[in-house]
Amino acid sequence: MTAERTRSKIVCTIGPASRSEEVLAGMIEAGMDVARINFSHATHDIARETFERIRKVDDTVAILFDLQGPKIRIGEMKQPVELESGASFILSIDDFVGDETRVSISHKELPDDVKKGDTIAINDGIVILRVEEVGKTDVQTKVISGGPISSRKGVNIPGIRLSCHLPTEKDVKDLDIAAELEPDFIALSFVLDANDIKRVNEIIEGNGPKNVDIISKIEHMLAVKNYDEILKASHGVMIARGDLGIEVPMEDVPVLQRDLVRKANVWARPAIVATHMLESMTHERIPTRAEVSDVAHAIFDRADAVMLSAETAMGHDPVGAVAMMERIIRRAEKKITPVNPLDITSEERYIVEIVGNLVYSAVTLLPEKIDGIITATRSGFTARWLSKFRPPADIYAVASEAAVMRRLRILWGVQPVRYEHDINNVDDLVRESVRAVHSLGYIEVDKDIVFTSGIRHIPSRTNILGIFHVEDLLLNV
Ligand code: PEP
Repeated sequence: MTAERTRSKIVCTIGPASRSEEVLAGMIEAGMDVARINFSHATHDIARETFERIRKVDDTVAILFDLQGPKIRIGEMKQPVELESGASFILSIDDFVGDETRVSISHKELPDDVKKGDTIAINDGIVILRVEEVGKTDVQTKVISGGPISSRKGVNIPGIRLSCHLPTEKDVKDLDIAAELEPDFIALSFVLDANDIKRVNEIIEGNGPKNVDIISKIEHMLAVKNYDEILKASHGVMIARGDLGIEVPMEDVPVLQRDLVRKANVWARPAIVATHMLESMTHERIPTRAEVSDVAHAIFDRADAVMLSAETAMGHDPVGAVAMMERIIRRAEKKITPVNPLDITSEERYIVEIVGNLVYSAVTLLPEKIDGIITATRSGFTARWLSKFRPPADIYAVASEAAVMRRLRILWGVQPVRYEHDINNVDDLVRESVRAVHSLGYIEVDKDIVFTSGIRHIPSRTNILGIFHVEDLLLNV
């Protein structure tokens, strides 16, 4: 990794197009920070093999397991069919192979959860049905907006709190393999409130994985409503625009994206903007101008990371898609508008935020003099709270644990630097951290750096801040 990497991070979904060592290495070289394994598609065998391969190619890349959650799907269909607007169509909890008149549904409580007049969307919201009558096993609907459906397409019932919730039986099994493999992040689909996260955390605390951060996917109206409690209960969020754009009116998504990312910034929770970012690159060599603009606007909205889905999982050129994303980020992040740090300081006024404000002021007032921000971090806490202010200098987070370093890969502007330290003396901690960063060529001897950290082994307490001349520390004075 070089200091020239972009400040905003790149999450890539790994699939059939990107599972080989060669493609993985190319994507890492092009800028992938986090590899996503999607349990809506990956079997345990595939997940294990993919996980081990990524770790083999580069064990500094973070790995995210994305759990399917209570996602509803239609069952098997004889063949793809086109539903005509105005036609009748049945969703049934019985198991059979579907056709243009009826299909089976994975959510067996559907007749209890819907009522006459409710809307049901299939296939990414392309097909819209209205509930006409609810029986014991069948839900009779009218096709309001026709279109294609085929086996296992996703179903959304906007605004309804379904009787199934996180974690599903499948999620619990997927958490078992997470406990075995120890990914760095677990993303939870269809989180509705903080209780969903609490239930998953109870399993993780009992069974593992030991070192994992929870990313809540915001893709339901209720998640938007309960966003504050979800943010506080999570380590980060993903604005999962695919399902979100079905659950809320599509035109609300850009405004929600901006507001949800900004709030995540205030609480120092990294925010990933996901789905359809360079979608046309799944088949084409170059993206549309609208897609380029979408990635840039996610950066202007202050996303920590942007995500590729089908582009890297199934596309014809996963490495090219990452390289394109990297180019767009690099250009856009030069133009990110600074905000007054006080405007994104939480009402709690945590000490670490006051330190973050001071660090931001120092690098903004002395842009020529200060060559970087260095923090020695045990858990990544200080780095996370510095990052949220988007200071105009790299944040080098010196950490001794590989798992902590990988989790730092999602934070805007943060470059993890490995140094085995267990120092509890300020002088040595500053000197050794600065030496570790300097030895990688990231900072110059005739410049200053801002150093901040927590000492005395008290977790999550940032309590020292100083500005040091690099040469003085290298000379041992
Ligand atoms: C989304 O809905 O945008 C998303 C990222 O989730 P998934 O890919 O699991 O549907």
